[in-house]
Amino acid sequence: MKQQWLFSPTLRDVPAGADIPSHQLMLRAGLIKQNAAGIYSYLPLAKRVLNAIETVVREEMNQANGQEVLMPAAQPAELWQESGRYEDYGPELIRLKDRHERDFVLGPTHEEVVTSLVKDELNSYKKLPALLYQIQTKYRDERRPRFGVMRSREFSMKDAYSFDKDEAGLNESYNRMYEAYENIFRRLGLDFRAVEADSGAIGGTDTHEFMVLSDVGEDTIAYSNASNYAANLEIAAIPDHYEAPKATEALLKKTATPGVKTIEDVAEHFQAPLEKLFKSVLFIIDETPVLAVCLGGHEINDVKLSNLYNTVHVRTATAEETLKHLGVEPGFIGPVHVGDHVEVIADYAVRSVTDGITGANEADTHYEHVDPHRDFSSFIYRDIRLVQAGDPAPDGQGTYQFAKGIEVGHVFKLGTKYSEKLGANFLDENGKSQPLVMGCYGIGVTRLLAAIIEQHHDENGIIWPKKAAPFDLHLVTINPKNEAQYDLGETLYKLLLEAGYDVLHDNRKERPGVKFNDSDLYGLPVRISCGKRSDEGIVEVKPRNEDTVHEIHQNELLAFLE
Ligand code: ATP
Ligand code: MG
Ligand code: MG
Ligand code: MG
Repeated sequence: MKQQWLFSPTLRDVPAGADIPSHQLMLRAGLIKQNAAGIYSYLPLAKRVLNAIETVVREEMNQANGQEVLMPAAQPAELWQESGRYEDYGPELIRLKDRHERDFVLGPTHEEVVTSLVKDELNSYKKLPALLYQIQTKYRDERRPRFGVMRSREFSMKDAYSFDKDEAGLNESYNRMYEAYENIFRRLGLDFRAVEADSGAIGGTDTHEFMVLSDVGEDTIAYSNASNYAANLEIAAIPDHYEAPKATEALLKKTATPGVKTIEDVAEHFQAPLEKLFKSVLFIIDETPVLAVCLGGHEINDVKLSNLYNTVHVRTATAEETLKHLGVEPGFIGPVHVGDHVEVIADYAVRSVTDGITGANEADTHYEHVDPHRDFSSFIYRDIRLVQAGDPAPDGQGTYQFAKGIEVGHVFKLGTKYSEKLGANFLDENGKSQPLVMGCYGIGVTRLLAAIIEQHHDENGIIWPKKAAPFDLHLVTINPKNEAQYDLGETLYKLLLEAGYDVLHDNRKERPGVKFNDSDLYGLPVRISCGKRSDEGIVEVKPRNEDTVHEIHQNELLAFLE
């Protein structure tokens, strides 16, 4: 493609409001344009990368016996009422009415739709196992859309659903998907790690998240330096033999509030309505530990535990500053008031109070599993501690280490939760009716775009890994007014296209500096420049991820590129 046709408005300066490299680079390189908060247009370069990502995803899904379908984004509310999630999902679920006042939702995920799709069709063990997948636009009204397409409100997801006759079958499907995910992320050039995750409110047992390692990640991975243990900090296990470091021990003693045992005690202690406490955050105020409760209904659940982990390092701050740090609206402060002096030195108590109540996934807020008589004292004791790098590891091997990660994929054993609720049954070998045993598997396709850039860039721009690149080659005719350069550029453009390369050809009448800046910013894997030595048939070849420039004769170019 000739670059004068490329619709890619580039920016010279770092755009305001873009806080992380991938967001900045996507705006600077003209990959995306914002339409509303968390809602973007994907411009030609980005669309090409999405296509490339989707190609890898499709190849691996098909290899794993997946069949591609396309399900509707607009879904009748009845389905969500049947599963119970119409109420439980919270304000992230976009609800709307048609002209007949019928309720609909815009799908944030498709368990309900896919279960109703296969219901009555996958009705015999002979039709199992089955695996359906789609690549489709999802809607989640995220409270804080941010970081560009990393956390947006309209985004593309590959979601797959497996159907088996029993647990053993589900395990096989799950393992097959797990391997497919490893292949996908490896082929896309990502440094990633699969971690144990919280099954939260979706229900089910086993679940793993695939984390792209990156400092801008919103999740914290707790892993052992001496074993394969790796888990989202949200569920990082505390071994029974865990001995709190001395300083923490002292803190724990001070923290234990006499008489506070049940969630009701906690509510009374803080004079807070019970239902609001379910989403509470307990702050420990330095040496004079005070449990402060942050009221916030659904809102507070948006505060990631991993963010709270960071707050360990916040020493002195007003409540206002602390909440700002956590991204919590001051309006949601309970017994701690704006302006109060608060030092946050411990975290993680959140989980003790919300565990089993909200789950770790803010999208899956629900209350149905609350046991009001649950004894929280042990949790409060157990969880209020500083897990620090170097603490004993939970599986008895090595010590805790931490890393930040971007969740790009999530695999989940659902079991029979949705098939039971929606009545999706099959007849087994004995003619007995059984609910389908399901798994679900998601990949954030548009989030991957940003995650790839996070791991592959320098100060000049993006450095696309081969499999994700929008074009294979950037051919630059430095001065198209020079006849030799112009002719060589045109000859090579044809030659490279015929050899099967996807080529972006810049023969615009721009200054060389502008062209090279754009070229570095776009980050195609290899640049071929036709410059001064064009009359000898010699071009300069520069891989984007190397500093070396190779002078190559046009006759040797194809062999060199192989
Ligand atoms: P997160 O914890 O980041 O909110 P999630 O756990 O809610 O993600 P899942 O329900 O597991 O997300 O969805 C599957 C995948 O979809 C995620 O692993 C992620 O890659 C992607 N995804 C989820 N929410 C968003 C979003 N708001 N914007 C872009 N991608 C998203
Ligand atoms: Mg998550
Ligand atoms: Mg979410
Ligand atoms: Mg998830």
